[in-house]
Amino acid sequence: MIFDVLTLFPGMFTSPLGESILGRAVSQGLFSVRAHNLRDWAEGKHLTTDDAPYGGGDGMVMKPEPVARAIARLREETPGSKVLLMTPQGVPFRQQHARQLSRENGLIFVCGRYEGFDERIRQTLVDEEYSIGDFVLTGGELPAMVMIDAIARHLPGVLGSNGSVETDSFADGLLEYPQYTRPAVFNGLAVPEVLLSGDHGRIARWRREQQLQRTFERRPELLATAELTEQDQVFIEKLRRRAGSG
Ligand code: SAM
Repeated sequence: MIFDVLTLFPGMFTSPLGESILGRAVSQGLFSVRAHNLRDWAEGKHLTTDDAPYGGGDGMVMKPEPVARAIARLREETPGSKVLLMTPQGVPFRQQHARQLSRENGLIFVCGRYEGFDERIRQTLVDEEYSIGDFVLTGGELPAMVMIDAIARHLPGVLGSNGSVETDSFADGLLEYPQYTRPAVFNGLAVPEVLLSGDHGRIARWRREQQLQRTFERRPELLATAELTEQDQVFIEKLRRRAGSG
């Protein structure tokens, strides 16, 4: 998998993606991140990548030509790469998108700055638009890094023995169960007895119920689309009754 990033600040990508699990995966060649300076595709004496908005108003708007030239070049290098625009107006990025996008050969992230992009970039040059939340950042670099991190975790071999995307929150539409490690008692709170029991059947059932309870309490809207068994439904009904009577 090749992650290409079009940005005015390629230096921002060096450290965050060079550390820990992702840094190791990059050095093992499991994926690569190439941050390209959009100025390399700009023309004119000043290598301009932005200009004043038609119609007036504050700020600058990113010009379409450097982005178009960059995408054309990167698509020659990695045919079939999908182009993703970072924008607060895009589809809210979710775990299911991370999983789907991890199946692509190449992804090209287009990071905006200033007031954003000339509308024709959105209309003619990109395949999908993503937002990482209902807030506005100064640039698309952090959103691109957030997405690369979430997508890369799904690539074969990246997590190794450092966990599994299968049991993560959102994998099956629910939040993950609570985790514990040593010591057995901390700040007066003991690890739930079931986790010390060695009974894998009981542990699995407890974890599932904790997932359901946690999701019910914190993100009840997720239950409408989660994959639930009949046993799960019965347990949720119990939680509802308990909440209703409390
Ligand atoms: N004027 C634009 C608007 O109101 O929609 C916001 C421009 S923002 C200051 C500059 C760039 O940051 C955007 O073009 C986009 O690439 C990136 N950005 C900001 N917030 C984002 C978010 N929540 N998700 C994804 N990208 C974001």
